Parts: sequence; C-alpha cells; structure tokens
Amino acid sequence: MTSVFIVSAPSGSGKSTLVERLLSSVPGLTFSISYTTRSPRGHERNDEDYCFIRAEEFRAMIERGEFLEWAVLFGKDYYGTARRFLEEARRQGHDLVLDIDVQGAAQIKQKLPDAASIFILPPSREALIARLRGRGEDAEEVIRRRLGRAAGEIEDYYKYDYVIINDRIEQAAEKLCAIVLATRVSRQAGAGADAAAAIDPQAKRWLELARACRTADVSEQVQPILETFFSARK
Ligand code: 5GP
Repeated sequence: MTSVFIVSAPSGSGKSTLVERLLSSVPGLTFSISYTTRSPRGHERNDEDYCFIRAEEFRAMIERGEFLEWAVLFGKDYYGTARRFLEEARRQGHDLVLDIDVQGAAQIKQKLPDAASIFILPPSREALIARLRGRGEDAEEVIRRRLGRAAGEIEDYYKYDYVIINDRIEQAAEKLCAIVLATRVSRQAGAGADAAAAIDPQAKRWLELARACRTADVSEQVQPILETFFSARK
C-alpha cells in the first residue's frame, strides 16, 4: 500500500532542504515533480525541480484529467500534481511525497483522506524574512508579496495532521523522517504499533517524535510564531 505525504510551508521556510533530506535518508519514496507555468529560477532544472510548461499545455492536461490536484498561485501561475506520480509510486511499492500549497493539500485530503499532511513553520516572521533575503533570488517587492502570502498560509496550519517548526534543520529533518517511518510502522502493525515499538527502540523513537509533532500537541509552540505574523499585519 502506498502512503501519501503532503508537505506544505510558506516559501523560505526551508521546506525544499527538509524534503531533500527526507528523500536521501528514507528509502522507498517517490517525489512528485510538480508541473508549473512559472519561469524557472536560477539553479532550477526542467523535469527535476519542476516540469516547466506553457499555460496552454497545462490547461490541456486539466482537460485530459491528468492532475490529481492543481491550483493557481500568486494570481497567475498554475501548479499541479500529475496523477502519473501516484500511479508510478503504487507500481513500485513506494510512498509518495508531495510538496504542494495549502489549496492543493485540501484537494488531496478530499481525494485521499489517508494522506498524512505536514506543515513546516519558520520559527518567526523575522527568520522567514532573513531566509528570503539570504537566498538572494527574489526582489524586495516579491519578498513582500511572499510574506503577505505566508501569513495567509500559516493561518491554515491547523488543517494539517503534523506541524514541524524549522528552527534547527537537523532536528526538523529528523522529525520529518520520523513521521514517514512512524506511519509505515503503524500501517504495518496497525493497532499493534505500540507493541512493535516496545520491541524495536528505533520504531519507538519514530512514534514518539511523530506524536510530538501532531498539530494538537504543538499548538502552544505555534501560537507565539503566529503572533509574529499577525502583529505585523495590524
Ligand atoms: P515556488 O514557486 O516558490 O517553487 O512554489 C510556490 C508554492 O507552490 C509552494 O508553496 C509550493 O509548495 C507550491 N506548489 C509546488 N508545486 C505544487 C503543486 O503541484 N500543486 C500545488 N497546489 N502547489 C504546488
């Protein structure tokens, strides 16, 4: 059985690095390369970071029902997850990782209610600004737009199953891997997951780390972070 993991975050939260760590640390994962109509940024490669296509091609793919979900972002660019990645993951007996936005996550959850959704939060608005400026890819105007959008996305964090606060990359990466591995333990052992953990210390650690990231269990840590975003909007 294939599990689907949705990872969302405001841009600049370190999500791409975390997903890269996940894919290089945990075997048996397929990453869904999204289709987009936006232009590639500096280091991005076609068919690796995204499949870059024109709007007409994207609309034709919608018509043909080739997307599992799609959304228009930043008021102009199409982004979508092709069904073929899920089919491929199923064929290979892999789990599937999706790096998609809040709208896409909601569509996937509707179609695949068992998908696990993970929201990555920056430790504060200031940290997010520093990262966006630090990567030197976007003009100030674009950064301002991304920040406005980040506040809107962060408001939806409670719709996700798990929240990871990315203050230290090593720990955040360990948590993301643990969520995937704990899901596999639970899938294989079902109600016996705790019994499996009792005999396997590694499984016990994954389950504990994953449980500590459950949205209901992190809301106290999330509130002060939300404040940094919402007080800036007032
Ligand atoms: P960027 O343009 O900075 O690479 O990505 C902007 C946003 O698009 C990110 O939040 C990213 O997660 C989201 N995104 C990337 N691919 C997809 C996709 O296939 N579907 C949806 N709904 N969002 C996507």
